[in-house]
Amino acid sequence: MTGPELAIAFVNTRSWRGSEPASEELRSPQDLAAWCRKAGLPETEWSEEMFAAAIQLREAIYRLLAAAAAKADPAPEDLALLGRALESAPPRRRLAWTGQGYVWDVGSLEAAPLAPVAWSAVDLLASPLLPRVRLCANEKCLWVFLDESKSGNRRWCSMSACGNRAKAHRHYQRRKGR
Ligand SMILES: [Zn+2]
Repeated sequence: MTGPELAIAFVNTRSWRGSEPASEELRSPQDLAAWCRKAGLPETEWSEEMFAAAIQLREAIYRLLAAAAAKADPAPEDLALLGRALESAPPRRRLAWTGQGYVWDVGSLEAAPLAPVAWSAVDLLASPLLPRVRLCANEKCLWVFLDESKSGNRRWCSMSACGNRAKAHRHYQRRKGR
């Protein structure tokens, strides 16, 4: 995973944020290790402490993206938390050409395995794509997505899941109201 998709996939590891309880994919350091493997992030031994910090980082990124989607100012503590993750990441000083595209040549990420997530979030927040960040209109879902439609008025994280579910729910409520 590359670009803004990485940060978005990370914050969406918690889903149904508007429901009680929300659905959590990262319940343990092992879950996080499995997610990192899937996302192509460096392997590392996750301690409980690192895991807790990773979840804090995830929630700060989620709130920053949610604020952007609401055209609201970010909370200074969320910005500071992401800033600290950025500081503990290795510097991006060298660009490398892979034959297919460009990548940052950053050396080992063992000490900062979530650095690519922090970079992804920062690059998205500082990019012209930011106004395209949305929260799913299904108030039980609240997944973050990037609206890349031409019209810029996509409302659901995925029409096949949330859009149809929300429509069915409205239909059910209308019938019940008769
Ligand atoms: Zn949704």
